[in-house]
Amino acid sequence: MRALGPALAERLEPVLGTVERHAAECDEKAAFPTQGLTAMRSSGLLGLLVPARYGGLDGTVPDLLTVSQLMARQDMSAAMVFAMHGQQVAALVHHASEELRERVLPRVARGDLYLGSVTTEAGKGGHLLSSGTATRREGDLIELDRMAPIVTGGAHADAYLITALAPGATSEGQVSLVYAERDQLDVQVLGGWDPMGMRGTHSVPMRFTGAVPHDQVVGAPGDFRRVTVDVFAPLAHLGWSACWLGTAAGALSRTLRLLRSPEERRRRDLKSELLLTRLSRARQRIDTVQAMLSHTADVYGTLSERERGGAPWQLLVNALKVTASEQCPAAVEELVELVGLRHGYLRNQPLALERALRDLRSASLNYGNDRLHLANGSLSLLDQETTLV
Ligand SMILES: Cc1cc2nc3c(=O)[nH]c(=O)nc-3n(C[C@H](O)[C@H](O)[C@H](O)COP(=O)(O)OP(=O)(O)OC[C@H]3O[C@@H](n4cnc5c(N)ncnc54)[C@H](O)[C@@H]3O)c2cc1C
Repeated sequence: MRALGPALAERLEPVLGTVERHAAECDEKAAFPTQGLTAMRSSGLLGLLVPARYGGLDGTVPDLLTVSQLMARQDMSAAMVFAMHGQQVAALVHHASEELRERVLPRVARGDLYLGSVTTEAGKGGHLLSSGTATRREGDLIELDRMAPIVTGGAHADAYLITALAPGATSEGQVSLVYAERDQLDVQVLGGWDPMGMRGTHSVPMRFTGAVPHDQVVGAPGDFRRVTVDVFAPLAHLGWSACWLGTAAGALSRTLRLLRSPEERRRRDLKSELLLTRLSRARQRIDTVQAMLSHTADVYGTLSERERGGAPWQLLVNALKVTASEQCPAAVEELVELVGLRHGYLRNQPLALERALRDLRSASLNYGNDRLHLANGSLSLLDQETTLV
């Protein structure tokens, strides 16, 4: 994990404290981390990726990953809220028109705009590059009526990046990414959120109806593919993996603290071969993901936009997502076996392994691993040389 600069670390500290204090309650009630978001707003962290010329913190992708990872040590839901907001901000920074950037980014930097993500659609599931929602151009406006089955923090977001077909699209792949503020549309929450894990993300079904100015399309109309390849998919996979890794590392750290406590040392033999092997396996899984995450983030920083469209890079970033989503839950699973029923399986224990495991169960589903394996199989066929980046 890349260390944060001292100024950023200082901003983050109170946010981590707030997130930690409310994590168990948000999980229990399946409630959004409202206090955590308020702390993110006032710390300036919502503007982490906003360039300094718009008043932001001018942070880097590795900064985003470190902050997400540290937050996820306490609360994976709050970390996801933060990481996904960062992904939306990066899309605006790199693909919105200058006029839109000037209008929006200073408000993100001030903490006034928390951005929700609307890409999943009933019927097409998680597939990013298609949509079944038509839109209509009316003068300078784009009219839309978009159902969204799952929007993290949707009831709390101030604005959204929404995918839908470009006006006049002739195929389901001509998708636009549209920026819309809450008060520009009729925004309805259609239901609740009562899942196994990630309960604090409060990821609700929603409907967005109305019209937004045409200049709020991010990137060229119908060309969401370019935004996806350049920013959206890489930051999703990097950001999610950082969250999963943080949760697994936090779980291991808490477990080690317990094992080394005087009370526990009286009860357990720390030289037990079974215990040592399980610890080793958990650590190995975590270090594997850490190495892959940091390598993938480094490679991302060196690539041109054209290279980000190439098979070797896409294979790597997809493999990061699949690997992290498998190894992080597996590491926590080892820890549950290691500490046993009381510390590992009961709810509301200090180790919070049960919550970590429930949260991490979402990882393979959050953009289905099956989809990524199919994509990587096809990409492998395109890269006969097996170019490793
Ligand atoms: C905690 C959490 C928060 C989320 N927040 C948001 C959010 O804020 N905004 C948002 O838009 N989305 C969000 N999502 C949705 C997420 O990004 C995925 O789109 C979603 O999890 C996929 O849902 P699905 O499994 O029902 O659909 P699908 O991706 O359609 O997958 C369903 C099943 O069908 C199979 N399958 C279907 N099609 C294919 C295919 N072509 N190739 C291979 N296998 C296939 C897969 O095996 C999969 O198991 C969130 C998800 C989670 C878990």
